[in-house]
Amino acid sequence: MKPIIELIKGDITKIKSDIIVNAANSSLLGGGGVDGAIHRAGGPRILEECMTIRNRQGKCKTGEAVVTTAGNLPAKYIIHTVGPIWNNDQEKCSQLLANCYKNSLKLAESLELKTISFPNISTGVYRFPKDLAAKIAIHEVKNFESDVVEKVIFVCFDDENEKIYKKLLKE
Ligand code: ADP
Repeated sequence: MKPIIELIKGDITKIKSDIIVNAANSSLLGGGGVDGAIHRAGGPRILEECMTIRNRQGKCKTGEAVVTTAGNLPAKYIIHTVGPIWNNDQEKCSQLLANCYKNSLKLAESLELKTISFPNISTGVYRFPKDLAAKIAIHEVKNFESDVVEKVIFVCFDDENEKIYKKLLKE
């Protein structure tokens, strides 16, 4: 079955869903933007788990994803995925961003949980064009079928992304 798609404007740390996705960086050691917000709101446990993963496998490559528990957040797990830094190689960047969504959805499936929330990966400090990023995100989610994942939530923090998602999801 195809999961239901929902759009919410707001702060992903406040969203009640089984999984929230973090737009992490390859160090997995936290950063600004949504990454900083998740670590601040979720507490030190999340960083400890990220460090354990780092010690085991090294850095997380762009487009890949790892999972930790969610500390003090209402979610059960956090999937940390590393989006591409936009660099005008549209094809390569698009592929890598698509991988973030694909790999996160695959992980959600393997965790056997029903709801997953995504921020607008790469569209902040990593400067990925918002319209193109939204098209890729929606395309990947619409192509995803699952026996367990029932709902995918796009959490838009800024007005521009919200407007773009609203328009694209209507089409
Ligand atoms: P990246 O480095 O992947 O670009 P950023 O965190 O800089 O990551 O930005 C990614 C997106 O996350 C941006 O669209 C930004 O508006 C959004 N964002 C920032 N804080 C939050 C938050 N608390 N909840 C949801 N989205 C957020």
